[in-house]
This record gives sequence, C-alpha cells and structure tokens, in this order.
Amino acid sequence: MTMKLVFATNNKHKLEEVRQILPPVYDILSLSDIGFTGEIEENGDTLEANSMLKVRCVTDWLKARGKDMPDGVFADDTGLEVAALGGAPGVHTARYAGEPANDAANRRKLLEELRKTGTADRRACFRTVVTLERNGRTEQAEGRVDGTIATEEHGAGGFGYDSLFIPQGGQRCFAELTANEKNSISHRGRAMEELRKLLSEAQTS
Ligand code: IMP
Repeated sequence: MTMKLVFATNNKHKLEEVRQILPPVYDILSLSDIGFTGEIEENGDTLEANSMLKVRCVTDWLKARGKDMPDGVFADDTGLEVAALGGAPGVHTARYAGEPANDAANRRKLLEELRKTGTADRRACFRTVVTLERNGRTEQAEGRVDGTIATEEHGAGGFGYDSLFIPQGGQRCFAELTANEKNSISHRGRAMEELRKLLSEAQTS
C-alpha cells in the first residue's frame, strides 16, 4: 500500500533527489503540493533544531486546518562543515554569504574564506539531519559524507555546493556525478536510508 509522506521543503532539487532515492511505495508530497505557502523560519542553533522546526511547523499547520493527516511528515536540514573553518558554515550553510540565500555567492565566499586561512587542509563533510513525525512521535536520524573542497568549481549537475564538494575516495565533485552516483553516496542518500529504517520500524511497532 502506498504511504503518503509530506516532505517539508519547496527546494525542487532536494525533492527530486528524495523522490529518486525513496522507492515508489512512498508518495512524496512537497509543501506546495499540500498548499502550504508560508515561510518556515529556520532560527535554530543546530541542524537538528532546524530540521525539527520544519516538521513541527508543517504538522501544526495541518492540524490547525483540520487537514487529512498524511502517514508521516519529514524534513531535511543540511549543513556543510569545513574543518579549517572550525565547522563553518554548518547551520548557516544556506545563507553563508548573507540574505537572500544565493548559492553562487555562497560558493564564492567559501572559496574566499578557505583561501584566507592559507591552509592546504580542505577537509569537509556534508551532514543531513532528517526528522520524521508519525503518529505523534518524532524521531531523528543523520546521513553524512566526508570529502574535500575543490579549489575551483567543477561540473554542471546538482545544486548548492555540489560543484565544490569532492566526496572521499573519488576525484570528481558531486556536480560531475550522475544523480544516481551522487545519491548512492551522499549525505541525503544516507539520511533517506535511515528514514526508510525508521518508517519500517514505525510500521511494525
Ligand atoms: P537547507 O537544508 O535547505 O537549509 O540547505 C542548506 C544549504 O546547503 C543550502 O545552501 C543548500 O543549497 C545546500 N545544500 C543542501 N543539500 C545540498 C547538496 O546535496 N549538495 C550541495 N549543496 C546542498
């Protein structure tokens, strides 16, 4: 039987990836699919807090409007953590170069901040914290991928920082990989794997 899950995002890239990663038994609805047009203020201090905030905001909205509850609501909050920058941009990844969020400006700032440190240490990781609310219960899980930051942009695929992130064990940036290649090793791919485990546990408990 198909399970209806609301993914608390309007980021079309994340949505596309998640729809590719999760099997078709999960019918993934975005915020615009359910008619949610509000802004979710991501003012938490951690990825965990922001991921939780997104889920709470959407479940409260559904309840307040007496909408049919889906089988679950989940959110993804993602951060890029760069070792030589003390873990920055971290929770500020989306707005690293300021408001309004701008991916190209964020990438330029990242290259500039790393250049200013004068270090050759370009280690980084992407972390996705996924929060699932189902039957009034909230659970979290994480997906992570380690890698390095390239010295210049490569590739035309993906989004965000994909043209700067080289996953460990490879030579190519995420933006140079096919969608399947990225999803099979990415922070989001791994977080969705954890989400699937939570969903199947929830079904049997
Ligand atoms: P948020 O999770 O929507 O807050 O996104 C955080 C930031 O990370 C945004 O600037 C995104 O563009 C970026 N981002 C999220 N996921 C990815 C990814 O898979 N690759 C590259 N950048 C990403």
